[in-house]
Amino acid sequence: MYSVNSIGKTASELAAFVGHHECVAVINNHISVELIEEFLRPKINGEYVGGEEYPDELATFIHSLCGSHEVHPVKIIFRFSKYPDSITYKKKILYVIDRIFERQLRCKESNEIMSLKLWLILFFMRETAKYVESNPGKSPEEASLQYARMISAWNEGDVVRRPLDILLRNAVVAFPYKHSLFYDTLVKSLNKSPVGQRPSAYEYIVQSLFGQRIVAVCQFCSVCGHPGAKKRCPQCKLSYCSQECQKFDWPIHKKVCTSLNGNQELATGTNNMISMDDLQAQIAQIDV
Ligand SMILES: [Zn+2]
Ligand SMILES: [Zn+2]
Repeated sequence: MYSVNSIGKTASELAAFVGHHECVAVINNHISVELIEEFLRPKINGEYVGGEEYPDELATFIHSLCGSHEVHPVKIIFRFSKYPDSITYKKKILYVIDRIFERQLRCKESNEIMSLKLWLILFFMRETAKYVESNPGKSPEEASLQYARMISAWNEGDVVRRPLDILLRNAVVAFPYKHSLFYDTLVKSLNKSPVGQRPSAYEYIVQSLFGQRIVAVCQFCSVCGHPGAKKRCPQCKLSYCSQECQKFDWPIHKKVCTSLNGNQELATGTNNMISMDDLQAQIAQIDV
């Protein structure tokens, strides 16, 4: 993240320069596996000092959650549902995310953006675990996906998924460190846009975490919020990142598709795709 080239530019500065805003988000949201290990399996002089043994898969799972730039609740739930021991290690998972979250504001270079990102992940993991545990008759995978379908509900006449919008707003309101200009700005913009309207809470959150450019340039998956969604509903043009998301959404989407009437295309302005040759040329120029 911090390495610089011969003219003192970091990788994310170069990516921003050529308009690759998702790359910028990926680089800036990096968290090392070592940081996860520090809280998951703390060592003193190279010796593990905890009582319980934790599998490597658990470290990988927590790292995939914390080290990602994807904060959409449905994305978090999909990750939760695919890891078979989400409930077995629930306490430890929440503990590690919580410690890394706390670390962001307590260290020398406090990082408000990273701290809000980790807070959202922690909040959605807690809510998902709560839902799964209140449905003991179902497997964790089944129950978590049911929760994802619930928050993805879309009523006819609405322009966004209302339960999702409410969940996102609740997560922001619950953020424990409210004394920052960054947080204040986000809350003020959310208050300007009523629940269920566009711009949606997700659009505001992504903008405040990753910048205006990524919202202007990227299409976000309507289900999991992944930037760079290339698939479309042929009728209403709603964006999806994958067949998995499209399939997941179909039972919900088929009831509202016709009423959306093709107005789901984000006003994205200019298309910022850049060819490899142009990219090389631009990088060569700044390196002179
Ligand atoms: Zn998706
Ligand atoms: Zn449609």
